[in-house]
Amino acid sequence: MSISPLLPVYNRAEPVFTHGEGAWIVADDGRRFLDCVAGIATNALGHAHPRLVDALTRQAGKLWHISNVFRVPGQDELAKKLIAATFADTVFFANSGTEAIECALKMARKYHAAKGRPERIDVIGFGGSFHGRSYAAVNASGNAAYLDGFGPRLPGHIQLSVDDLPALLAAIAAPTTAAVIVEPVQGEGGARALSGEWLQTVRRACTEAGVLLIHDEVQSGMGRTGKLFAHQWFDDAAPDIMAIAKALGGGFPVGACVATEDAASGMTAGAHGSTFGGNPLAMAVANEAFDLISAPGFLDQTVAAAARLRAGLEDVAARHPELVVDVRGKGMLIGVKLTGNNREFMAMAREKLLLVAGGGDNCVRLLPPLNLSEAEADEAVARFEATLELAGERWAKQAA
Ligand SMILES: *Cc1c(COP(=O)(O)O)cnc(C)c1O
Repeated sequence: MSISPLLPVYNRAEPVFTHGEGAWIVADDGRRFLDCVAGIATNALGHAHPRLVDALTRQAGKLWHISNVFRVPGQDELAKKLIAATFADTVFFANSGTEAIECALKMARKYHAAKGRPERIDVIGFGGSFHGRSYAAVNASGNAAYLDGFGPRLPGHIQLSVDDLPALLAAIAAPTTAAVIVEPVQGEGGARALSGEWLQTVRRACTEAGVLLIHDEVQSGMGRTGKLFAHQWFDDAAPDIMAIAKALGGGFPVGACVATEDAASGMTAGAHGSTFGGNPLAMAVANEAFDLISAPGFLDQTVAAAARLRAGLEDVAARHPELVVDVRGKGMLIGVKLTGNNREFMAMAREKLLLVAGGGDNCVRLLPPLNLSEAEADEAVARFEATLELAGERWAKQAA
């Protein structure tokens, strides 16, 4: 038998981490890393935040799970907060980003079916997108790397380019279109921030055509870009349906699909469900995380630290034009496109005790906790530059 006990779908990096505090994470050999992965944009308040630890452990002693057959008061509480902070009127809780997307896609088709237009099934997604790994999510994204070998593609999914607006507007106006699904800032695709103008144009076209607009803010939401949700940087850009997860639980698995009353109008009792979704443990932590992230002033400090990190990385990029193509993204969702291999760079960053994430388009992504201090931002820049210097030497040797 040569297969590993764990299904070999990941190439896991070597350190084994035992504990963390804030933006710092410690391996079993004592090495202390500056964590700019944060569980892939998930540990938005850093590791072991005392208020999250307290919320989880207090709930753990009371009630873990009751299913959605019964009321979970924490769901009512968090739903009200999300509704007050967004365009939405109603919320469904799930366990992950993929499940939040699944709810969003089903809701969009059900909406049209309930309005007597069952022929409207097509969902328009984009090149470079990522919406999760379920069969519907990989089809919504349409990227071959996640689809090949898994049988026929699902009908009713169209992939377009964000750069081809005429094709997009024509597709939105087509009579079988149900919805557009888009990340306001593409995460896995390489930290690509869409412009306010693009988001507003697509918003208007969807409204005119009676097509639902779904924002996937699984990665860009909950403060990552410096606003609670990335589309909130712009007026008149709000979607009809939005998927949230990652930072929502501050590291505890939870997702949410939020929607307007109209968009949700097809979702009656029995139309959708989840056994674990929004259980008392998840709600205890997510309510606390929401209060911390939405507290007055919290995101001001995120914006300041992110600007410092971004400026520092741009300086480094300017000093190493032979190694860095560009720096992009928004807030604490930063991508650095490299000339050399991004996977090799991630391993070299670990030698310099810095954790960075990978990304499409040969980027590495920096996704630190939202409460990163400015001193920590400077430290991340210093370690990034040290990694670049190491990479420059190694890549020069390889080329020789
Ligand atoms: C991570 C991610 C998902 C999938 O979330 P999971 O929790 O891994 O299921 C979906 N969309 C975006 C934009 C993501 O970044």
